[in-house]
Amino acid sequence: MEHQRENLTVEEAVRRILLGCSVLPERAVPLRDARELVLARDVVAGSPSPRFDTAAMDGYAVQHADIRGATLERPVHLGIVGAGVAGDREITPVAPGTAVRIMTGAVCPEDADVVIPFELVESRGDQIVVSQSFAAGTNIRRTGEDIAIGSVVVERGTVLRPAHLAVIAAEGHETIEVVPRPRVAVIATGDELVRPGQALEPGQIWDSNSVMVAALVEQFGGEVVMSGCAPDEPAAVLAALRREAAEGADLIVTIGGASLGDRDVLTELASDVIALERWSIAMKPGKPLVYGLLDSAIVIGLPGNPAAAFVSAVQFVRPAIVTMLGQLDIDPPTIVARTLEVIPNQGGRRNYLRVMLEVDEHGYVARLAGPQNVANLATLSRADGLLVIPDGVEQAEPGERFEVQIIRSL
Ligand code: AMP
Ligand code: MG
Repeated sequence: MEHQRENLTVEEAVRRILLGCSVLPERAVPLRDARELVLARDVVAGSPSPRFDTAAMDGYAVQHADIRGATLERPVHLGIVGAGVAGDREITPVAPGTAVRIMTGAVCPEDADVVIPFELVESRGDQIVVSQSFAAGTNIRRTGEDIAIGSVVVERGTVLRPAHLAVIAAEGHETIEVVPRPRVAVIATGDELVRPGQALEPGQIWDSNSVMVAALVEQFGGEVVMSGCAPDEPAAVLAALRREAAEGADLIVTIGGASLGDRDVLTELASDVIALERWSIAMKPGKPLVYGLLDSAIVIGLPGNPAAAFVSAVQFVRPAIVTMLGQLDIDPPTIVARTLEVIPNQGGRRNYLRVMLEVDEHGYVARLAGPQNVANLATLSRADGLLVIPDGVEQAEPGERFEVQIIRSL
């Protein structure tokens, strides 16, 4: 059977995929699950931080008027009248001529306006001897000096990092409105595939792609709701696609069966059964790609060779997930590196080379991580990045600089 394919550049393919992707509706999630998610609404401070005047050091709370002008020659003696630690509801007031032992985080008594650290004061029985002066307010954190009531603590659209979570927790929130993680199903297709851990028959191999793509999906920010294998039977793959779509997957990633071989099951489904498009992308590795919509799920069909599956997942699955997550920057993290070798770029396609990165005095250096065969997993597992040689460049010369997509920290 002859299968028509549409020729697309990487950019055009990404643009077409993103047409089908929208930001997922916001949802409340526990703060603990919100890391790296996009905040859907401004968080406004309902209370000040600190919530009360707070001792910032372990020491003695005193009145500034008492110790102003204290020197070694004219020390000031103050009587210790109480003690307080963090968590105490009330601390003994500080009257003129007195001091209260106080620990970091304790409520600072209203009348005190200096906390003298232990190491800068001498204690003698029930007295302290102060022999230097301190400015009013020293070592007291005033109510609201960190966060004023009514101020925006974290703006909507922020990708939540650990410190954002802390500032939201400090405002007492247990849950937070975010754009949730897309639910992603990963289906590897192939009659030869066997789940790792199971015995192999002749001609069979262990499925190594689904664990890789599932892990990539999680690195991109998706939630893997299913990952497994299906045989090269159109009916079986179609049933799996329909099941995952019905169960609410936002994205279904298939692996394998996307080229023009005799048992390329995604290609067959695309021509006959459901509204999947077959694309031929001007890139290497990873020329074939299948794309479509099934109910409310996006379907992306990656090629089966491991390096092609990986490179295509970075170029096409990542932007889809990142867009659903509400993030604005869809490009993978990229640096510029020099090559040290002559690298031919056959085929006039954009070439993604698996490279290891080093740094020397002139910046990043990229070395090929091994043979660039599309089936070669060892090279892929050694790589730090994907060196991108544009389609117009016939050969990379030593010392030439190219972009490298970082694949260690996607
Ligand atoms: P395909 O794209 O289905 O024609 O597969 C191309 C090559 O990748 C074949 O050698 C497959 O055996 C291999 N392959 C496909 N899927 C997987 C997988 N999930 N794990 C390991 N190798 C695979
Ligand atoms: Mg196959």
